[in-house]
Amino acid sequence: MTAPHATLGAATRLLHAGAPALRDGSGPVNVPVVRTSTVRFESTAAYTDHHHRRMAGERVASYGRHGLDTHRALEDAITALEGGHRAFLAPSGLAAISLVLVALLSPGDHALVADSVYSPVRRVDATLLQRLGITLEYFSPSQDDLSAKIRHNTRLVYVESPSSLLYEVLDLPAIAAVAHAHGIPVATDNTWSGGWFYQPLKLGANISIQAATKYIAGHSDVMQGIVVTDTPALTEKISTAYEALGLTIGADDAYLALRGVRTLPVRLAQHQRHATQVAEWLQGQSQVGQVFYPALPSDPGHVLWKRDFSGASGLVSFAFDDDADAHTAHGFVDALHHFGIGASWGGYESLALVAQPERLREHSAWKGTAPVVRLHIGLEDPADLIADLEQAFARVASRPRLAVA
Ligand SMILES: *Cc1c(COP(=O)(O)O)cnc(C)c1O
Repeated sequence: MTAPHATLGAATRLLHAGAPALRDGSGPVNVPVVRTSTVRFESTAAYTDHHHRRMAGERVASYGRHGLDTHRALEDAITALEGGHRAFLAPSGLAAISLVLVALLSPGDHALVADSVYSPVRRVDATLLQRLGITLEYFSPSQDDLSAKIRHNTRLVYVESPSSLLYEVLDLPAIAAVAHAHGIPVATDNTWSGGWFYQPLKLGANISIQAATKYIAGHSDVMQGIVVTDTPALTEKISTAYEALGLTIGADDAYLALRGVRTLPVRLAQHQRHATQVAEWLQGQSQVGQVFYPALPSDPGHVLWKRDFSGASGLVSFAFDDDADAHTAHGFVDALHHFGIGASWGGYESLALVAQPERLREHSAWKGTAPVVRLHIGLEDPADLIADLEQAFARVASRPRLAVA
């Protein structure tokens, strides 16, 4: 336990980060869930001392909102996972995104946002940022010349890789090189990889954001977001906004996310194995036009994925062939037995959803017209999932077509 951090493997670091110290020669494996709103001190001097240390940037709590042992342990594990300077815990993934945007942008500022990001970012833009006099401009990460889009008041480049719905893989080092040449930080949404298959802070991003709701918690029982910064200067900026917004999470949720972190590598490896089987099978289906999964050699992002990622998650989307309409896609999803129908993903269970066409149209990478189904491949036996998909395809294939007399 005294080995220098840098010499340990990533999985080892992840298992030990934030583990409680032994007291009197013994102690639990797991950090206790410390639920409290008030922190008590043995003297006014101790209270003042804590307050000053906190103001100086130390991670100590003088009040429950700052979180105690459970929060510190999760922050340590997440910081180790993402290889950053500091982790901030937010009540949802979207709150983590909003925190970053509000922390780094001021009235009159401009930010460049990849057009394929998690769609609710556009709602944050329309309902909050525009009101604050902040301008977000959406760019095509594959087609636009980023440097030509940078303005004198551009203060942030915000991306997500692979993107939502179609898993477009971005050339993060190239994007970061352009942004950094203009002194602009890059923030990326890293939810897809759970932080395990992708290390954006090592590839040039300055902030990594995750919906811990997804793979980190991993059991569909927690809402949570995390923000990881790469330097003390960005930590300070995020910290200031975090405090001003009064953000915090409950100790029980911190504990659940921490428990998820401990098994993240093994769960993700299994999601990848199962999703690869399903994606390969989907490729052979006559009703399927295109399969979106960066680990497939046919995927447009495969080369970049191989260069920058160490694995692929459980998300697989596919477009029907051009003959299919929305009715077919909805009928297909409704015919599934082992896939829940619902938003979100990252839990142990499989899910299916028809992608909303208006969301797809936001993404410049999408040129199609056929309906798209997003699958989250869970930890069930893949043979059962494939049999289920097969019967659902058969159901919609046998749907009577309008007879042309
Ligand atoms: C789900 C998701 C979010 C938002 O997380 P919530 O915890 O649901 O608010 C953000 N980004 C991506 C890529 C997501 O899939």
